[in-house]
Amino acid sequence: MNTQIKKITPESLEMAKNLLLEGQVVAFPTETVYGLGAYAYSQEGIARIYEAKGRPSDNPLIVHIAPNFDLSQIAREVPEGAKALMERFWPGPMTLIMPKNRETIADTVTGGLDTVAIRMPSDPSAMALLSYTGMPIVAPSANTSGRPSPTSAMHVYEDMQGKIPLILDGGSCQVGVESTIVDLTDEKPLVLRPGGITLEMLREVIPEIDLDPAVKQVRSVDASVVPKAPGMKYRHYAPKGYLILTQETPEEVARDLEEDLQTISGDKLGVIATDEFWQEMLKAAPQLEGQVAMISLGSRRDDMETVAKRLFAALRQADELTLSRFYGEAFSREGVGEAVMNRFRKASSEWRER
Ligand code: AMP
Ligand code: MG
Repeated sequence: MNTQIKKITPESLEMAKNLLLEGQVVAFPTETVYGLGAYAYSQEGIARIYEAKGRPSDNPLIVHIAPNFDLSQIAREVPEGAKALMERFWPGPMTLIMPKNRETIADTVTGGLDTVAIRMPSDPSAMALLSYTGMPIVAPSANTSGRPSPTSAMHVYEDMQGKIPLILDGGSCQVGVESTIVDLTDEKPLVLRPGGITLEMLREVIPEIDLDPAVKQVRSVDASVVPKAPGMKYRHYAPKGYLILTQETPEEVARDLEEDLQTISGDKLGVIATDEFWQEMLKAAPQLEGQVAMISLGSRRDDMETVAKRLFAALRQADELTLSRFYGEAFSREGVGEAVMNRFRKASSEWRER
């Protein structure tokens, strides 16, 4: 199959609409990451998503809707508290779990669950597609399962070339990490996945909301605590090389790397960090320059939003450079740092705490 990349125009929107109606999948940008979209009521389209991604069938999809969409088409009830969150954070990077409308939402969308995840994206391209088609569109991230999520049309092309007919190109994603998933269907309001809308922001509306205990743990895999969002149990976003996420100082990482250079031969070494971290490393060990690849997450003087925006591209770059062993700078889990550290941990093979 020939995969076309097209900017958003009336013609490409019409093409996307027809493909979706035919049960094909179309990749499109959102403010979080690129999505691999299918018409939510098309069994063929839904099956194609799982096939193109190689996604396990128990990992449910998020239904994306336009601002004027009638929620009752897909949800049989809007949980208490959801209205206030929707008013405050929709359109935007927040997904809400609701009891599903069993007439319209198939088990293949929800991995057999009786609830459905719903989001109204704010990205102008995503809005254009959702408004133009008027369709509810199911879309997971447009990467091959297990790879870092795509934050540009080129990332999607890397993974989906030959597998899907159309990628709508809306440039780089503004947020860069996936949506915050909020579950208000149980007594205790929970964040099932941290994302662009932070816990602090949610607490301004629902003070008692907390992180799912499985998300709180720092280590990526502890089988004894099962996450409520099915997708959170998988190792995700994984680059091909061995990534050590570390709270060590730049000087300590510089020392680690010097040791690696002496003891391990044939490994391609690297660091994913802020510019300041790299500068401090080089101050401690100038000889690392040229021997160790530096992948920048931006300047620490900017903020965590910049780091979030760059993280997935950085993990993909590590693969392009065929790094086999590299270090990642750990960040504070405040604000969007929670989402950054959640993804970074899942991507890593080793976690070093100070
Ligand atoms: P992705 O679109 O790749 O970011 O993945 C969407 C994630 O939403 C999945 O991995 C699930 O963990 C989560 N999700 C979707 N539907 C539900 C649901 N009904 N209940 C809980 N989590 C859900
Ligand atoms: Mg995903």
